[in-house]
Amino acid sequence: MSARLLDGKGTAADIRSELVPRVAACTRRLGRPPTLGILLVGDDPASQVYVGTKSRAGAEIGLSVEVVSLPSTATLEAARQVVERFNASDDHDGILVQSPLPAALGPEAERALFDAIDPLKDVDGFHPANVGRLVQARPRFAPCTPAGILELLDRSGIELAGRRAVVIGRSQIVGKPVAMLLLHRHATVTICHSRTRELPAVAREAEILVAALGRPAFVTPEYVRPGATVVDVGINRVADAATIRDLLPADSPRLAAFAKRGALLIGDVHPAVADTAGAFTPVPGGVGPMTVAMLMVNTVRAAEIRLGVDG
Ligand code: NAD
Repeated sequence: MSARLLDGKGTAADIRSELVPRVAACTRRLGRPPTLGILLVGDDPASQVYVGTKSRAGAEIGLSVEVVSLPSTATLEAARQVVERFNASDDHDGILVQSPLPAALGPEAERALFDAIDPLKDVDGFHPANVGRLVQARPRFAPCTPAGILELLDRSGIELAGRRAVVIGRSQIVGKPVAMLLLHRHATVTICHSRTRELPAVAREAEILVAALGRPAFVTPEYVRPGATVVDVGINRVADAATIRDLLPADSPRLAAFAKRGALLIGDVHPAVADTAGAFTPVPGGVGPMTVAMLMVNTVRAAEIRLGVDG
């Protein structure tokens, strides 16, 4: 491995400790800690893990996190009422609806609930008013994963202005907003997706390559220009032993973890890319912790907006 590792875990810890005095100042002025309300519907195991991680990260820096859990049989109306209660509450600064929602709520449920959140409390940045502000380069709350990627690149000294960036994936939560943030930082940005032709050749143009497609180890060295910075957004749970053996070298310490747990988290980028890239984000320990840190940043920002300190 010759590439430089971009340490999301360490950078996220720095960001969280920088927030502590801001949290303390808000707590003094509000008479309570900045508070995040999370709505979790259903029993998706990954969502439960993510909500647990967010709650612990919040508690660690003095935020209050209230999780309302509804069963997978809950109606969209019941979920909307929780959002409305958080909206009306003077004791909640930020609101997050954990996705994915159970399929039984219907294909429009996610959009309906994101739209129902008060834009001033929308710490995930998915409300159309906040998406519009992001596009206009005056973000109130930038979505946490894209904001975390930019923060990690900045703090790692990766230059963006004038450079070629390619984003693989065009989702609302990662691909599109990260492309917008890179554009605002004067990168020349190409967005690729499942119908892009000659994807490896397009990706090889990138000096900064962001992989956010949700396909384990999809981005192999043939997609990567030598020396490029590669940002791996993917979080894919892989339980197949043969696939894991194919992906990881025989002396990888991760194999012991696989033997113990029966599954590993694998990014969208093949581990062999570490020999071609100039810098890359690991999975785990790259974009994931940055996402949680930026949720904390946005929650503190929501409290500061309420106090008139900001925005
Ligand atoms: P999504 O399924 O909503 O979107 C995937 C995108 O990839 C789509 O735009 C699709 O066109 C594109 N795509 C799919 N297959 C492709 C292919 N073969 N070639 C080119 N493009 C292709 O996914 P998402 O919500 O954006 O998430 C992407 C990945 O990032 C997932 O693994 C997800 O778990 C992970 N994720 C990680 C974090 C984090 O904090 N690290 C946060 C959000 C999502």
